[in-house]
This record gives sequence, structure tokens and C-alpha cells, in this order.
Amino acid sequence: LEEQLRHSQKLEAVGRLAGGIAHDFNNILTVIMGCGTILKMDGTLADRQNEMLGQIIRSAERAAQLTRGLLAFSRRQVIKPQNVDLDEIVRGVQKFLGRVIGEDIQFKSIFNGAGLTVSADSGQIEQVLINMAANARDAMPRGGLLTIETALEQVDAPFVKSQDNAQPGPYAVISVSDTGTGMDEETLKRLFEPFFTTKDVGKGTGLGMAIAYGIVKQHNGFVTVASEEGNGTTFKVYLPIVEERAAELAAGAAPARPRGG
Ligand code: ADP
Repeated sequence: LEEQLRHSQKLEAVGRLAGGIAHDFNNILTVIMGCGTILKMDGTLADRQNEMLGQIIRSAERAAQLTRGLLAFSRRQVIKPQNVDLDEIVRGVQKFLGRVIGEDIQFKSIFNGAGLTVSADSGQIEQVLINMAANARDAMPRGGLLTIETALEQVDAPFVKSQDNAQPGPYAVISVSDTGTGMDEETLKRLFEPFFTTKDVGKGTGLGMAIAYGIVKQHNGFVTVASEEGNGTTFKVYLPIVEERAAELAAGAAPARPRGG
């Protein structure tokens, strides 16, 4: 528990720092890109100069992208939760995930979450899934299989004890599994740390999983990860089920009912 507390404090401190820097940095980049673009439109430059200017603008754009990531991370945007069907969230982002992983990786989705209502900011949960899919892709450079599965899972007390203040009960779960490289001990221990990355400079920011962790925490949920070197990784995103529904489920009421019915 203490470690988790330290972790969230660290997240917050780094987030604030990163946010401050990112904000100022963004202003600087806007000037670089703005001036570069105007100069380019001028059309008075020699080819070689134009080429270099293009490089300057592209690099500034890349930097701006990184900065946006940092801002998203630091802002800890207030989530706008709405009651939403778990499967709908995954259906909504499916196409996009397919594009993230590319064509060499197979994609399978399994829907067991019909009728499971969560109170969630769909856009934010989509972001979590996109970050996970991007990692899955990077872990499968020679292809493989990405599986997204929704399910209802009864979570009991001893298990949630290791998950901060999570409450036992029924949870809506989205798991994201890949058949990639897996992670070693050290990586597994550190992967939710902001700026922790094992990827080459320019390829990884080390923010994807820290962002995912933050978003799911804001939803009063939690994330687990199981990974085996050489075999692959499974992330599970646990989201609490909307209370009325949770009570029904606990009472053994019919699990799936059309919404509004
Ligand atoms: P980044 O992807 O920018 O490195 P993340 O926070 O998303 O940052 O991930 C941190 C690290 O966790 C990655 O560099 C990688 O080593 C490891 N990791 C995350 N997801 C996976 C995965 N599905 N398979 C293997 N390693 C992973």
C-alpha cells in the first residue's frame, strides 16, 4: 500500500512538473512551427534550404506531439463519466485499434460484457486501450495476435487488498492480451512509472502506461498485468459496475437486459 501511495505521489509530482514544462514548451514550438511554415510559403528559398526547413518543421511537429502526450498526462483531465455498456466502449474503439496494430498482427475481440454498465468516460477508456494496443504492437514486431475481451469478474477482498482502496465486488473487465515478447521482472515492476521505457529514444516516451494507470484510477478501477518472457502479456482493466446493476448482479438477477428496459 505504501509503495502504491509513493507511486501516486510520484505520479502527481512528475505530472505537475511535466505539465509546466510542456505548457511553456508548447508555446515555443508554436513559434518555431509558425515561423517555419510562413518561411516555407514564402517560396524564396533554395531547394536545400527548403529541405532543411522541412526537417525543422517536422521535428517541431514531433516535439509538439510528445508535448501533447505530456500535457494529457499531467492534466489529469477531470473525467466526465456516463453510464455506458462495457461492450459498446470496445466496439467503439475496435476499428481504431486495428489501425494502431497494423496488418501483420491479427486482431480478435470477444464480447462477454453485454448488459454490464459502467460509469466511465468512454474517450478516456479508449485512450487506455489504444495505449495498450500500441505496446502490444511494439511487443510483436514479427506479428502475432492481439485479443481484447470483455467480461464480468467477481473480485474478492484478499485480491483487492493489493490494489489500493479498491472495493471487492463485481467488476467489468477489459483484457488486452498479446503474444509478444513479454516483460522481465524489472520492466514488470516499473512499467507504470512515468518515463520508464525500454524503447529507443524517439520511440517510447514511457508515458503510455502511466497515463493508463491514472485514467483507470480516476474511474475507481485498477489494472493488473501478467506477463511471461517470450510468451506475451495480458493487461486487465477493472472498472466498477454501476451500483444498481452491481446489486442486481449480486442478487443473481437476470444479467443481460436491454438498456432502457
Ligand atoms: P512506452 O511504450 O513509451 O515505452 P509505456 O508506459 O507504454 O511507455 O510502457 C513502458 C514499458 O513497459 C515499455 O517500454 C515496455 O518495455 C513495457 N511494456 C508495456 N506494455 C508491454 C507489452 N504489451 N509487452 C511487452 N512490454 C510492454
